[in-house]
Amino acid sequence: MMPKTDLKNFPLPVLEQFLKGQGKERFRALQVFKWIYQQDAHGFDEMTNISKALRLELSETATISNLEPEAVEQGSDGTRKYLFPLADGNSVESVLIPIEGRNTLCISSQVGCAMACEFCLTGTFKLTRNLTTAEIVNQIMAVKRDLIANPPALKANAGHAADLIDDCEDGEDDEPVSPATIRNIVMMGMGEPLHNLDNVIPAIQIMIDGNGLQLSNRRVTVSTCGLVPEMERLGREIPNVNLAVSLNATTDELRNRIMPVNRSFPLKELLNACRKFPLPGRRKVTFEYVMMGGVNDSPEDAKRLLRLISDIPNKVNLIPFNEHEGCGFKAPTQAAIDAFHTYLIDRHVTVITRDSRGGDISAACGQLKGKLENKRAGEKS
Ligand code: SAH
Repeated sequence: MMPKTDLKNFPLPVLEQFLKGQGKERFRALQVFKWIYQQDAHGFDEMTNISKALRLELSETATISNLEPEAVEQGSDGTRKYLFPLADGNSVESVLIPIEGRNTLCISSQVGCAMACEFCLTGTFKLTRNLTTAEIVNQIMAVKRDLIANPPALKANAGHAADLIDDCEDGEDDEPVSPATIRNIVMMGMGEPLHNLDNVIPAIQIMIDGNGLQLSNRRVTVSTCGLVPEMERLGREIPNVNLAVSLNATTDELRNRIMPVNRSFPLKELLNACRKFPLPGRRKVTFEYVMMGGVNDSPEDAKRLLRLISDIPNKVNLIPFNEHEGCGFKAPTQAAIDAFHTYLIDRHVTVITRDSRGGDISAACGQLKGKLENKRAGEKS
């Protein structure tokens, strides 16, 4: 028997082709697509505006997959961390970060990662496999479902100015927001999204489709360690998506050491690709900069960083290094963070210093997965 086709792997035009191949009219694809993304249908039986005969026929060749979290941890600041088991026994995680009722969801693109950044916990797991398009969009759909079932309390005094994505500059900040709505998607979870573009691009197409997940493309951010050819492809295929680049070092010498990708695409090429990235209007490239004590947190680093990015529309996310076991790097001192931050702010750079959100639930970079797997390993022995 042929394995069934998971329809959540298909953006609308591909779904149209798939159904056309089965002799179905084009409007059927739109009907099914809306059932999947707007009604969160789990099966064809629910699709009541489609004839029984057709529903049966579809169910013989196709499925609609889902993810359900095996663990949800909520931090005292409202951050929620989800661990999703996948059909093959692997797992991935997503983190929901509420800021004044505006939810940013950080999703994963791969199980593990091949980029081997020296400071990153996910890198130590190596790459197990790419996530499918369905597994990427299902993270969003599962969290949406959880937000409806367990709406977050809107704190009267949730006065966090810090955000992963500073979206105040686009003049849309007065939009009514619901604490149960996901507003921003950032692909900053496990994996290198540009190392899995064949599945990431259709997933973004589903996210931003007005008949799909209905997110604005200006609220979707793809974060990369710097795969230059894939940055070009992303810009070509999904114009208007936001780009974040994990810079983390201001010299090729250091970047070669802590981010092996730099040996293939050194700073000059990376920054050129940022210059060429098709960002519309007033939007900016986000440069993420993980500050590691004594490694890249000096005043000279701040100065070099400014010089590197000053001719690119930019904003900077300073991320204090999150310490994890078996990794020699250390968090920077508060004084180093403050000095770095102030140096850039004084020179009119938009800087967000990420607070340790979800610190009490280890909501950073592969830590929940690590923790649960350690626990399981402990139970087995
Ligand atoms: N591969 C993509 C997205 C995943 S990593 C990328 O490199 O951008 C998301 C962010 O977490 C990156 O900016 C990365 O540099 C940062 N990061 C990784 N490990 C970290 C740690 N231990 N502490 C703080 N930030 C970390």
